Amino acid sequence: MIVGILGGGQLGRMLALAGYPLGLRFRFFEPAEEAPVDGLAERIRAEYDDYEALARFADGLDVVTYEFENVPIEAVRFLAERVPHLYPPLAALEVSQDRALEKAFFEREGIAGPAFEAVDSIEELRAAVARLGLPAMLKTRRFGYDGKGQALLHNTEDTATAWQQLGGVPCVLEQFVPFDREFSVIGVRGPDGAIALYPATENIHREGILRRSLAPAPGVPQEFEDTARAAVTHTLEALDYTGVLAVEFFMAGDAALANEMAPRVHNSGHWTIEGAATSQFENHLRAVLGLPLGSTATNSYVAMLNLIGAVPNLDAAYALPDTHLHLYGKTPRAGRKLGHITVRTPSRDQLDARLATLAAAGIEVE
Ligand code: AMP
Repeated sequence: MIVGILGGGQLGRMLALAGYPLGLRFRFFEPAEEAPVDGLAERIRAEYDDYEALARFADGLDVVTYEFENVPIEAVRFLAERVPHLYPPLAALEVSQDRALEKAFFEREGIAGPAFEAVDSIEELRAAVARLGLPAMLKTRRFGYDGKGQALLHNTEDTATAWQQLGGVPCVLEQFVPFDREFSVIGVRGPDGAIALYPATENIHREGILRRSLAPAPGVPQEFEDTARAAVTHTLEALDYTGVLAVEFFMAGDAALANEMAPRVHNSGHWTIEGAATSQFENHLRAVLGLPLGSTATNSYVAMLNLIGAVPNLDAAYALPDTHLHLYGKTPRAGRKLGHITVRTPSRDQLDARLATLAAAGIEVE
């Protein structure tokens, strides 16, 4: 069985690595010159508007999925007509490609989120600033990731600069949330409607990029996790979803506010490779293939540290027990995710001690 995957980054690489023990093979579609899946699986290198290449990609495939949500929707629609199964469904991809649609979806489904307004012009932005107040975050509706396409407005003088900085494209203005913590809940749903959720993961971002995840989330009280789990379950059902879905939340005051969703395996779920009974990657494959979902249980305390921009000396990580390295084979560049380290321990204290050892050796732990 060959699984087709749009996007050939590290998420694709980890999907393939999870699929080989199940006897699966993979075909990727990725336009970049270099891709983390190279050397690991067949890859078609072409642009997403090359329909002849897309047809070649689809040839003989039973199922296509994606590891990257900014795939042009026309390419996905083209494939959906040519393969028996395309998951997660097109509707979920469309909603999550556009922050305004995504926030409207949460609102319509009764899932609490930061107050927001869609803005299409500088005049609309000024009016939205007057209504929502400052500080506020301006975000492009489309193509934002890892903090790209975002600007923080502190005072009204920032309005024109922020609008220009983001290129004068359709945006959403969102209330700035002085959150206590950030966390995510990753869920998976099979085509038969079966759902499994991983324990909440507490995340630290810097410059909009995920730095560290801890699971189970140490600072997230049960009632916040319960609210988030209900929101993820509801989202999976409302979208008639198949596959892995991640939703990121802010914990602010007494509220868990949904910030955004990703219709794919997610960086904050990398810890599940070593830390959960079944990884998010294997469960995504199980879901899109219509196989029974695997257990999402964990019996460890886990930290996942992203390696961003440059890979530090990893001797200390190699020396620690139950500490796992994942290097994606990417050329180093500022802000680029090059790999991650997962530390797994039987107790929270041991986890803190191992993180302190890594920090002392010059590895960023938060
Ligand atoms: P996003 O791309 O929406 O996930 O934003 C990236 C990161 O920027 C988030 O994980 C937060 O750390 C921060 N951020 C985004 N939106 C807000 C907001 N409305 N208030 C405060 N911080 C935010």
